Amino acid sequence: MTNTLEPTLTGGGPLDDARTQLREATTILGFDDGLYEMLATPRREVTVSIPLRRDNGDTELLVGHRVQHNFSRGPAKGGLRYSPDVNLDEVRALAMWMTWKCALLDVPYGGAKGGVRIDPRHYSQAELERVTRRYTSEISPLIGPERDIPAPDIGTDEQTMAWLMDTYSVQQGHTVLGVTTGKPVSLGGSLGRATATSRGVVHVALAALRSRGIDPDGATAAVQGFGKVGRYAARFLAEAGVRVVAVSDQYGAIGSHTGLHIPSVEKHVDAHGSVVGFPAGEEVDDVLTLDVDLLVPAAVEGVIHSGNADRIRARVIVEGANGPTTPEADAILQVAGALVVPDILANAGGVVVSYFEWVQANQAFWWSADEVETKLADRMTTAWDRVTEHATRFDLPLRTAATCLAVERVAQAHLLRGLYP
Ligand code: GLU
Repeated sequence: MTNTLEPTLTGGGPLDDARTQLREATTILGFDDGLYEMLATPRREVTVSIPLRRDNGDTELLVGHRVQHNFSRGPAKGGLRYSPDVNLDEVRALAMWMTWKCALLDVPYGGAKGGVRIDPRHYSQAELERVTRRYTSEISPLIGPERDIPAPDIGTDEQTMAWLMDTYSVQQGHTVLGVTTGKPVSLGGSLGRATATSRGVVHVALAALRSRGIDPDGATAAVQGFGKVGRYAARFLAEAGVRVVAVSDQYGAIGSHTGLHIPSVEKHVDAHGSVVGFPAGEEVDDVLTLDVDLLVPAAVEGVIHSGNADRIRARVIVEGANGPTTPEADAILQVAGALVVPDILANAGGVVVSYFEWVQANQAFWWSADEVETKLADRMTTAWDRVTEHATRFDLPLRTAATCLAVERVAQAHLLRGLYP
């Protein structure tokens, strides 16, 4: 396999995983190497340096990226991540997954992703504002409602999006609400956006449990990650009658055989910054390997890998995070008979409601929370049905089926448009 990207900063990792998945899909679809290479390679990428004036007067140099993987079906779309682990290859992988996610859910976007290598926990709000404004300013020629539309991801939130929108707008000379999604509702955001990823995760999790003959009412679940995705996924699962027996965050994991009372866990997290120390729970060693009906990895990439996949006992795994399962682990789980609902389907609720937000902002006309929820549920159910039908018809794992459907849609757009010049 040739590699047209350089430099690659890491060996293995998410980019290799994303390309392995793409290679499998293009082989099944009968695409030639040229088309594979085109789809494996970002259309455009930029690396920027971000000099930050710290609160104490020192200057620190940070690095950021924005990768636009594909525009065949519309403007590029994807989150902005603040994490000390950000690197260009990770952002490339995440941008590629966004292309497939948007195509699978039939939202009219290509894929993109951004990242700044920073641990936001160690910076003040004022410093994070300066980082966001400088980063936005550096990438501003590339973004815009018709070009590339950032959104929150790990380490960023609606405040980040408000700063980003403001910086871009000041540069344009007028307010451009459609340049980001995931904004505060009071600033052109959409009702239902903050919890949309988790709502989508739970829609497909309930469908996946039922497809395996497991009644969600009383089924057991473990959730890895208690941030923007895991927290609300745990809440909505519990509201649906699922017994959430364990949750974790970057500091540790807690559990209870009878099921955690999620509203109390949320209160504990708001007060103490972590699930750790929750009084009505015991410490848990490894949330991933518990004997549960449902496992929701909702943290980062690569957590289910060849080193632990044979110890995963969950019957159904629903990927709240992007890229949590490596291809090697996928193969092991497939043999073991576990059902893996892939990220590009399971966590697509976020970008679906981002699309709704963009449509609302561009029309300056806002929808009710019910309207957003109903339209989201429709999209998730339609995608779930298409992927499961395709998987059954061609005897494929759900990830392969989902990737084939998405890649075919992107390739079709590309072929119809033709190659310029
Ligand atoms: N960061 C989210 C994701 O990975 C949302 C992206 C978006 O809404 O553009 O899907």
